[in-house]
Amino acid sequence: MAVLNKLTSQEAIELENKHGAHNYHPLPVVLSKGEGVYVWDVEGKKYYDFLSAYSAVNQGHCHPKIVDAMVNQAKTLSLTSRAFYNDILGKYEKFATEYFGFDKLLPMNTGAEAVETAIKICRKWAYEVKGIPENKAEIIVCENNFHGRTTTIISFSNDPVARKNFGPYTKGFVKIEYDNLQALQEALENSNNIAGLLIEPIQGEAGVYVPSEGYLAAAKRMCEEYNVLFIADEVQTGIARTGRLLATCGNCTCEDKNCSGTPEIKPDILILGKALSGGAYPVSAVFANDNIMNVIKPGNHGSTFGGNPIAAAVAIAALEVVRDENLADNADRLGVIFREELAAFAKTNNLVKSVRGKGLLNAILINDTEDSSTAWDICIKLRDNGLLAKPTHGNIIRFAPPLVMTEVQLRDCIAIIKKTITEFKI
Ligand SMILES: *Cc1c(COP(=O)(O)O)cnc(C)c1O
Repeated sequence: MAVLNKLTSQEAIELENKHGAHNYHPLPVVLSKGEGVYVWDVEGKKYYDFLSAYSAVNQGHCHPKIVDAMVNQAKTLSLTSRAFYNDILGKYEKFATEYFGFDKLLPMNTGAEAVETAIKICRKWAYEVKGIPENKAEIIVCENNFHGRTTTIISFSNDPVARKNFGPYTKGFVKIEYDNLQALQEALENSNNIAGLLIEPIQGEAGVYVPSEGYLAAAKRMCEEYNVLFIADEVQTGIARTGRLLATCGNCTCEDKNCSGTPEIKPDILILGKALSGGAYPVSAVFANDNIMNVIKPGNHGSTFGGNPIAAAVAIAALEVVRDENLADNADRLGVIFREELAAFAKTNNLVKSVRGKGLLNAILINDTEDSSTAWDICIKLRDNGLLAKPTHGNIIRFAPPLVMTEVQLRDCIAIIKKTITEFKI
């Protein structure tokens, strides 16, 4: 059978183009193997992965502990559905809720599903606990948000490419400027029907926008004042990526890298996905305390695969790796080196305007018009030089390697990035 033969890169790309929907525009590289911070293409060329599957592979590719957990569970019991109990979901729920400091979690599979779940929990809480009149609940969201791809979620996106011709759109969302406390204050004052604020602690897809110091804590306090749920979408920023276990913990003064948030910034609802499985398997979850989560009753919500035994086993292993290998500390330390080196480089090079980010979620802004292909063209050259990254919105390149990277490897990568950009000609 021809599909089992080894393909060249060109053949693999042609197959996808011919038989797959064109909903992505991948960088032309065809990967067939991954280990730690490295991936290999079908011709055997080795690359540093500087995207980590959008921060799903924080623990590194094919981490042996996660793979073992997955294989062992897959050989034992893979799926029961929630029609019956299984002997590992409860263990995972206890482990993960203690790990992040919440009473309960609701298990789903993808990030978008978890965001949808959080919206449903927030609305139900608004009607049954806060007392908002039925069908009137509104959730505040931020401009340039990215929360996933479902019809409801794209209803409150302002990316025309993600939205256009997918209407009619879901109502019940109020959009405000990100990192603007006055806009939040006005939105909270303007309506009695605000149920929640759905927010990314750093806007990843939008181009790694880090809000001002103190913004998240102040926003959380405002939400408390108006009895509005602070819903943190940490699908991309969570699980050690930004140098703390959670990015909502990043603006406080506490020194504990494994702390899941001081009370003042601790979200009412926490959404996790991506690295919750170390990239081995789709696992997402919504966390909340009982006063919120208990609005969900049998039949209100569900998912055939949500909370399946493989997901539970994989997630426990993935979270153990983050803790045992001190990935938050490593991301914090390496992130400082990365930004220092690239900020110094930006001063000497016209193509790089600036560098920003937190931990190992960083981006460089390319000095060219938003619609030019310069960031893309640089990513092609980075690929040629053995490092894989991808532009985000505008002329921005996101750099998010696996958190298991060593300092020696990081310095090697910094050298590749500097060399590539120095040699680059528009
Ligand atoms: C990736 C992402 C999502 C969506 O996750 P999927 O697993 O792709 O559905 C939601 N929110 C944020 C912040 C993300 O980065």
